[in-house]
Amino acid sequence: MHKGYDLRNLAPYACSEATSKGRLHPEADPVHRTQYQRDRDRIIHSAAFRRLEYKTQVFVNHEGDLFRTRLTHSLEVSQIARSIARELHLHEDLAETIAIAHDLGHAPFGHAGQDALNRCMKEYGGFEHNMQSLRVVDELEEKYAEFPGLNLSFESREGILKHCSPKDARKLGTLGQRFLDKNQPSLEAQSCDLADEIAYNNHDIDDGVRYGLITIEQLLETRLFREQHEVVMQKYPKISSNCLIHEVIRRMISRMVVDLIDTSRYQIEKENFSHPDEPRQLEKYTVSFSDDMKQQTLELKRFLMKNLYRHYRVQRMTTKAEKVLSALFEAFINDLQILPPDALAHCNQLKDKIGDNGIARGVSDYIAGMTDRYAIVEYERIFNPRQLSFANLIP
Ligand code: MG
Repeated sequence: MHKGYDLRNLAPYACSEATSKGRLHPEADPVHRTQYQRDRDRIIHSAAFRRLEYKTQVFVNHEGDLFRTRLTHSLEVSQIARSIARELHLHEDLAETIAIAHDLGHAPFGHAGQDALNRCMKEYGGFEHNMQSLRVVDELEEKYAEFPGLNLSFESREGILKHCSPKDARKLGTLGQRFLDKNQPSLEAQSCDLADEIAYNNHDIDDGVRYGLITIEQLLETRLFREQHEVVMQKYPKISSNCLIHEVIRRMISRMVVDLIDTSRYQIEKENFSHPDEPRQLEKYTVSFSDDMKQQTLELKRFLMKNLYRHYRVQRMTTKAEKVLSALFEAFINDLQILPPDALAHCNQLKDKIGDNGIARGVSDYIAGMTDRYAIVEYERIFNPRQLSFANLIP
């Protein structure tokens, strides 16, 4: 075991190398790093991680340089998850790993892309971004001579697979078992899941206000925003609008994180866990908000759904994204010869491995791996008759 990590801070219920369920392909222990640091480093060096920079969170990133992308979202989740993990004496490296990997399987164009691809894949086993994140780290990243994927440790893979249908779970062996037994993931994974929620609720407000899709007046409808807005206005009555939104949001994040840590710490003490498997065996999460905060976050989510995610400008992008992805899928599946050679070879390999659905799965992997801008360029190349023929020769 690696000696450098300060184990004095690690609680008996935290994941650790001592209780780890290991990697699918056994490897020599890392030198000067923990096992989970190794996982994190492998993700940072992966192509899928770099692609997150050009993938939409909610807003297509070429529409504004300051919008969150999947990359900056993942970094915000990591920052929040690490704060939670450190306070609860959990394994911070593992929390960071899960956070930066949690969105690796997202298709281009955010949830619109996922929905479109799922519809296209309906007859071939469907498309789900969590399962796809696992495919990325288990199979699709091709970098190592000795194993497919990144060969991450069980605890990292467990955290990446947040949801899973019983049908998919049965195919996944040990990793899928918890969905069949209705058990929970590690406390580190639970922390990341809630950190994700804290991050997107808050940064979507920030992006929404910055681009004029929602206003501060509207946001005052929600208690979480209103209370912190009052605090800021009382302290700084002449504050500029740019500082105002930031001062409110940073207080909202802090309120949510503090509530989460206090509530979870109380639960952990009550349960008196002595091993990381104990919280896994419970029927529900140990890491959670207080009931009052749950209500407030629910109110905020409803507000964002109504006023932001269904805003006509966001909706236009959604419709466009669905068209682009559906058209690409149909074009490829009907004429495999227009796929680039690597993607075609991948489809054929999958056909040999899993049968007829392999071709569709290969096309879905190719599309899911695209960044927003790459998907748009591919669409242009295939469907725009004005695209000069030589442009098709440029890779
Ligand atoms: Mg996320």
